[in-house]
Amino acid sequence: MHNFAFHRPASVADAVKALGSARDGKFIAGGQSLLPTLRQRLAEPSDLVDLGSIAELKGIKAEGDGITIGAMTTHAEVAASSVVQGAIPALANLADHIGDRQVRNRGTIGGSLANNDPAACYPSAVLALGATIRTNKREIKADDFFKGLFTTALEDGEVITAVHFPKPEKAAYEKFVQPASRFALVGVFVAKTKGGVRVAVTGAGQEGVFRAKEVEAALGGAFTAEAAKAARVSAGHLNADLHGTAAYRAHLIPVLAARAVAAAR
Ligand SMILES: Cc1cc2nc3c(=O)[nH]c(=O)nc-3n(C[C@H](O)[C@H](O)[C@H](O)COP(=O)(O)OP(=O)(O)OC[C@H]3O[C@@H](n4cnc5c(N)ncnc54)[C@H](O)[C@@H]3O)c2cc1C
Repeated sequence: MHNFAFHRPASVADAVKALGSARDGKFIAGGQSLLPTLRQRLAEPSDLVDLGSIAELKGIKAEGDGITIGAMTTHAEVAASSVVQGAIPALANLADHIGDRQVRNRGTIGGSLANNDPAACYPSAVLALGATIRTNKREIKADDFFKGLFTTALEDGEVITAVHFPKPEKAAYEKFVQPASRFALVGVFVAKTKGGVRVAVTGAGQEGVFRAKEVEAALGGAFTAEAAKAARVSAGHLNADLHGTAAYRAHLIPVLAARAVAAAR
């Protein structure tokens, strides 16, 4: 690991200021994705700006038509929250199955979304539920946030402050685990909302999380496991690696969507 200057601001404004003054700085949240890249010397930031002491970035509350989760809220806190369990149990369940205990106790929702790993779980929930990402500058709709592998709509120095999730009628997340990493080989989040059915897939797309329009169309006709399973997903834009071919991933998407529909509540 290379040397870096370490900052621990107490407000978002001070965090933005610290990053703005750095030659090549980075925010650090739970460190679960960033620290391994530093240890492997894949990144060499001059400064790390720790978001962990900023009270305004923490917490979960019921708000308007749904719930709002602060960016620095850990996966374990989301999983254990009675507010989340009551409004969107699928989201609590998703958080409860991220990585292992250490990852869940350190990793944060803001860090996961900013990182936008193509196999991460949260992006599928954010996209399927039509969530809104709040930053220190603006609000970004989920459909406009994810821009490709490890790429988002965030600008340099922009901090995610919170995520607002509207409450769906029903939802569920089904993850086919890649056992070595515990990330999703394929993960499918299905949400039945007032505006229709939204289905988001992680782990399978060459460009990261995406909406499975074929499955959405099938479920728009009938919200049943049979309808989901009968949908055909093209393998053309899917990943192939040593863990599974593109055709295998294409096969898994309707299978997992069917399980999600059956489990949705
Ligand atoms: C062994 C292992 C297994 C895992 N399994 C899973 C899994 O099953 N599912 C899953 O979804 N994830 C998994 N993860 C990833 C985990 O969820 C991480 O917590 C997450 O990807 C990053 O969150 P973090 O808080 O640790 O962010 P960090 O690692 O601290 O930061 C990640 C990136 O986000 C930026 N950033 C952080 N917070 C903000 C913010 N508020 N605003 C703007 N930028 C910010 C940082 O600058 C950095 O570039 C796993 C990780 C490990 C190590």
